[in-house]
Amino acid sequence: MHLFEVYGAFSGQLINATNSKFYTSSVPMSKIIAIATLTSFIYDNLPFVYLGVPLFKGRPKAVHLRPIFDRIKSKLSTWHGRLLSIMGRAQLVNYVISGMLVYTFHIHRWPKIILNEITKIIRNFVWSGDCNQQKICTVAWNTMCRPKDEGGLAIRDPFMVNNASLLHLTRKFLTSQDQWAQLCRHILLSNAKPKNHYIHSSIWIDGEWNLPTYFHVKDDVLTNKILQTTLPIKPVPDALQWLSTTDGHLTNKLTYLFVRGTCIKVPWHKLVWNTYIPPTRVFICWRFIHNRLPTDENLRKRGCTIVSICCFCKKQLETSDHIFLRCPVTSQIWDWLNQGINQQLDLSSCQNLFVKQNWRRQYVGAANSDLNHQKCHMVHMVREK
Ligand SMILES: [Zn+2]
Repeated sequence: MHLFEVYGAFSGQLINATNSKFYTSSVPMSKIIAIATLTSFIYDNLPFVYLGVPLFKGRPKAVHLRPIFDRIKSKLSTWHGRLLSIMGRAQLVNYVISGMLVYTFHIHRWPKIILNEITKIIRNFVWSGDCNQQKICTVAWNTMCRPKDEGGLAIRDPFMVNNASLLHLTRKFLTSQDQWAQLCRHILLSNAKPKNHYIHSSIWIDGEWNLPTYFHVKDDVLTNKILQTTLPIKPVPDALQWLSTTDGHLTNKLTYLFVRGTCIKVPWHKLVWNTYIPPTRVFICWRFIHNRLPTDENLRKRGCTIVSICCFCKKQLETSDHIFLRCPVTSQIWDWLNQGINQQLDLSSCQNLFVKQNWRRQYVGAANSDLNHQKCHMVHMVREK
């Protein structure tokens, strides 16, 4: 208690005994009663929630994290998702739901079963506006989680965010000089402190490499790389360096990028994702390019038994390529656009239509690329009716 009094005197933060609790592990009841009598603190049992993070003993299980999942599901249910555009729902998920998970993701490795459930309700909410309603024609989750220039919607995948957060925590645990990290290293690592002094070496003598000859025979490339590496002459503390960065430091964003990996950039993203174009228009083009619009062709592929006919010409089966690019009715609109801009657009595929190189330079402005979006949106709206 003297320690608390000294802390209060120096910091001005007085301890309120009636609002304070203490927790123990495998301690006899006589000791617990003694501590409660001495401190006037309330004795409580694990698990409990501190700053929104559940604290418990042992490995994280679904039952420990279920309350957070329920809060997310409740939040998604209360939002009127159907009144928002899909891009609005994607933004809400990225900023609000990610914020609800960020603290626990930095502390616990979530069980796969509950991460799968979170992924499912987020995917349903983004596509249908209702976390319990699944849509038939959707783009694959992995594709949705890619950045926009790689053909995705830039949604953050809970699995990857969890892995990236723990990787970041591990690095801080190994390298940070904060008191918590030093304490953890002291408790959890076999070597109490990291070695930061010069170690006598048989291959580094007097500031020069002295590699045995069999090094060259065994791996000449690696040996040359070692010889090209200059070590500091004066003793300096060792420090872990993150190789993919220039300064060796690792941020949370970089860990996520590392865990996620990168894909090939798509050539159409600059014309599709344009800040001047409303997200609802962009989304139709994005689904069109991925061939995930709910056309008769796609609905049939997913098991729906329906009669298919183009709603414009009434002659052909309804496919994305037909209603947007090949149908005689929509061809008239493309002809009108070609005459207006005095250029023959490449209509061989939707990807070619949105590739920058296939547009004359003066038409690659915000206003002109909007023509494509407006046209796709118009065709889509007419077809929906
Ligand atoms: Zn047609």
